[in-house]
Amino acid sequence: MIFRQLFDSTSCTYTYLLASRRGGEALIIDPVLEKVDRYVQLLQDLDLKLIKAVDTHLHADHITGLGALRDKTQCITVMGEQSGVDVVSMRVADGDRIDIEGVNLDVIYTPGHTDDSYSFAMADRVFTGDTLLIRGTGRTDFQRGDARAQYESIFGRLLKLPDQTLVYPAHDYKGDTVSTIGEERACNPRLQMKSVDEYVQLMTNLNLPNPKMMDVAVPANMHVGLAQDDVARRGWAFTPSQAMELIGQQGVVLIDLRERRERERHGIIPGSLHAPYPDLSDNVRSGGLLHELGLASGNRLLFYCAFGERSAMAVQAAQQAGLANTRHIQGGIEAWRKAGGQTIPVG
Ligand code: FE
Repeated sequence: MIFRQLFDSTSCTYTYLLASRRGGEALIIDPVLEKVDRYVQLLQDLDLKLIKAVDTHLHADHITGLGALRDKTQCITVMGEQSGVDVVSMRVADGDRIDIEGVNLDVIYTPGHTDDSYSFAMADRVFTGDTLLIRGTGRTDFQRGDARAQYESIFGRLLKLPDQTLVYPAHDYKGDTVSTIGEERACNPRLQMKSVDEYVQLMTNLNLPNPKMMDVAVPANMHVGLAQDDVARRGWAFTPSQAMELIGQQGVVLIDLRERRERERHGIIPGSLHAPYPDLSDNVRSGGLLHELGLASGNRLLFYCAFGERSAMAVQAAQQAGLANTRHIQGGIEAWRKAGGQTIPVG
């Protein structure tokens, strides 16, 4: 496995790059905007294709690199379903999995530091965001933080992982890089409280100053969505109601770019074909399934995904590959459903 722990010294943030092999797919957790060029260089050096960029929560102390990484690599941005961010490509919930080739993260909802805080677990390690830090825990005094919820997230979820599980937090201010669940249970001073009430009292009385970057970082991190307007201005987008008029017309082929789990959870638009976004570049290349489908006379390809971001990127890639008859549904299946569009369970 390829595993890199990268550090931003301004915000003391750890960013994690994961891949199963050189030349394969990669995933990044908690990227920092100012370091995006460095990540892109490292991806090139290791011959990796970035598939997903994930934030553990909406950060208050640095600007996320999610949007910039998406714009540079066309990767899928991922956050939790509770997040106040405007648009990400994919939202996950407790019990989901975030998959790339050879790497699978179990999604654990661990609210408390914020109400959109998640941890991501692999067989031997867990990425704890700001929920559990090395010899500390993330503050709970803003962004709908909740010390009681955090106590439950830590004791009820994270400390239930095997003792030897490696703990990789989103920050460290003292230079520690990794711990284990067993070590934190035994040595983390915040975890030695006798009761949840004692923990809440401790967290309520920390009286920390706000992060220096907070007034800049939070608003910036709320707006990372792709500008779908640009795609619409080029005439490559349909609103859900425009799309509804097209369904069933001769030659209109609906393409669902989401993953199997998203389809199972949220349903599909009837009659659509499944072509997951990570396979898109192969699919739109000459000889690829979508390429041939798109060039067949009279066919019009209509992409959709969860929120319109993957489909907006897909329509641009398809147009670049010479497929002029491709469009996407703006706002994705969420907008489709809100506009009264029909969805059915996946067969
Ligand atoms: Fe945080």
